[in-house]
Amino acid sequence: MRRLATMVIAVVGLAATAATAEPPAAAFFGAAAAPSSGPAAAIGGHARGCLAGAVELHADGPGFQAMRPGRDRRFAHPALVAFVERLAARLRAEGHPGLLVGDLAQPRGGPMAGGHRSHQSGLDADIWYLPAPPHRLRTAERETLSAVPLVRPDTLELEAARFRDFDTARVLRTTASDPAVARIFVHPVVKRALCRRADGERDWLGKLRPWWGHDHHFHVRLACPEGDHACVDQAPPPAGDGCDDTLAWWFTEEPWAPSDAAPPAPLALADLPARCRALVAAD
Ligand SMILES: [Zn+2]
Repeated sequence: MRRLATMVIAVVGLAATAATAEPPAAAFFGAAAAPSSGPAAAIGGHARGCLAGAVELHADGPGFQAMRPGRDRRFAHPALVAFVERLAARLRAEGHPGLLVGDLAQPRGGPMAGGHRSHQSGLDADIWYLPAPPHRLRTAERETLSAVPLVRPDTLELEAARFRDFDTARVLRTTASDPAVARIFVHPVVKRALCRRADGERDWLGKLRPWWGHDHHFHVRLACPEGDHACVDQAPPPAGDGCDDTLAWWFTEEPWAPSDAAPPAPLALADLPARCRALVAAD
């Protein structure tokens, strides 16, 4: 933990010289090179929390390959690792060629410098729409292979052939049907395509939440695992399939209009639960 301690001392020193500017929590969590010891616990919320006792998803397993190894974000709550393995095995049994898995969390979760606002408590995973190729990717390929969007750039139009070829509807239905899954964030164009195509049982569509981005990957969020008492769940999505006015709103100007609002300030350690602060205190 010397690297972490040095980093923390450096960051705290910085804070002392600039009393008004508190260093972002992401600096502390980004410097934590290894999970904390002890039992696994998701602490706080998905966008304001951290992760104790993380485990690391293997780089490969039956039905999945993990991408971008250099980012070092394969850490997660054991429930999330089990979910990824379970989903990959299930899809493989259904004939899917394999999942490409993106970011999970940092070794101690927490806010990340750049990129995600959530993925903090070890219960969020990004999965590419692009299926895995038939071969095992080399490390260099995992860094450079590009994800492929399901939405035409700068439009609200589906890449319909890709949507079909990637077996997107099956992948998302199978993902949503796992009881551990609370929400799946997808681009509104992807949600609309599923709303139009789904027949029969439609309740699973309610877990698919339209959101900005998410045209190259979908984002799975698990509910707090049973017995994880420090974990804070988001309110469940509203009942129904969500193929309604709330979806139609995404196809108006409003969500895409430029905003003058300042981006939210990065989270400071003081914004996180006390157990999270303790997780990155020098040791
Ligand atoms: Zn994500």
